[in-house]
Amino acid sequence: MRIDIITIFPEILQSSLNYSIIKRAREKGLVEINLINLRDFATDKHKSVDDYPFGGGAGMVMMIEPVYRAIESLKKERKYDEIIYTSPDGIHLNQKLANRLSLLENIIILAGHYKGVDQRIRDYLVTMEISIGDYVLSGGELPAAIITDSIVRLLPGAISDEQSALTDSFQDDLIAPPVYTRPVNFKGWKVPDILLSGNTPEIEKWRLEQSLERTKRLRPHLLKEDE
Ligand code: SAM
Repeated sequence: MRIDIITIFPEILQSSLNYSIIKRAREKGLVEINLINLRDFATDKHKSVDDYPFGGGAGMVMMIEPVYRAIESLKKERKYDEIIYTSPDGIHLNQKLANRLSLLENIIILAGHYKGVDQRIRDYLVTMEISIGDYVLSGGELPAAIITDSIVRLLPGAISDEQSALTDSFQDDLIAPPVYTRPVNFKGWKVPDILLSGNTPEIEKWRLEQSLERTKRLRPHLLKEDE
């Protein structure tokens, strides 16, 4: 898989996408992540990528020309399955969407800034808009990193224990059960006996019960969606 991220702050993404599972997935060649500096596609001596909004008002707007040139230069090299714009009013990122995106071959993620991007970028250049939640961040770099992380950890081989990603919360519309490790007793706070019993079927039964109880309590809508 290939993920090309267009940004004016590649530094923000450089470190966040170069650790742990993502780093190993890149090293194994499971994913190629490229950071494209939008300023490389500006044509004036100041490397401008933003301008004042037509009609007045606060804030600057990301211009269409550099974004168009950046996307076109990528599209010359390969076909893209999705061109994603990170936007507070996009569709919410969830596990189902991450699963779907992880099956794609090539995607572009455009990280916005300022008051946002010229609407024509959204109308004519991008194919999908994704939000990471109903709040506004200063830029699309953190959302781009979050979207990328949620996708890459699902790529086969990215996680050494393959089961691990499959048993995470939301994969089967359930919240994951609680997990414990040593010590068995810390200040009188004990690990549930069942986990020490060695009785695998009973442990699996307990985990499912815990998942169902937690889902009912914390994310009841997940259970309703299945009805
Ligand atoms: N004026 C815009 C609005 O009210 O929707 C907010 C612009 S925000 C300051 C700058 C950029 O950050 C956006 O263009 C978008 O790319 C990114 N961004 C901010 N919050 C986001 C969120 N919750 N999800 C995805 N992207 C977000």
